[in-house]
Amino acid sequence: MRRDDWQLGTWGRIPVSMHWTVLLSAAWLYIIFQNVPFTLIGCVAMIVLMLVHEFGHVLALRRRKLGVTGIQLFGVHGETTYNVELNSVTLHFFKEEWDEFIQLVKPLVGGKSA
Ligand SMILES: [Zn+2]
Repeated sequence: MRRDDWQLGTWGRIPVSMHWTVLLSAAWLYIIFQNVPFTLIGCVAMIVLMLVHEFGHVLALRRRKLGVTGIQLFGVHGETTYNVELNSVTLHFFKEEWDEFIQLVKPLVGGKSA
């Protein structure tokens, strides 16, 4: 876990953290709204939306029986990390890296790469 994150707790056995860059989004929302209450409502809505999105990834990963290791929120996006265990080796992936990995190994196991 990064040290410039705030831990928001462990939700459904998944550590959730928020990076300081989320504060930049708060400033950006204030520039748009020019109103503190609207900015606060916007911040809460944005964070809830990011979490709902990331927990969608968690749902998909758990369906594939992949171990989710954490959720980190950044500026206006989040990342869900997870791992794959191959005998004694554990690989940690972000979603995009996993997609690249699948594209690389597909031809090796007789599948077609997209
Ligand atoms: Zn996503």
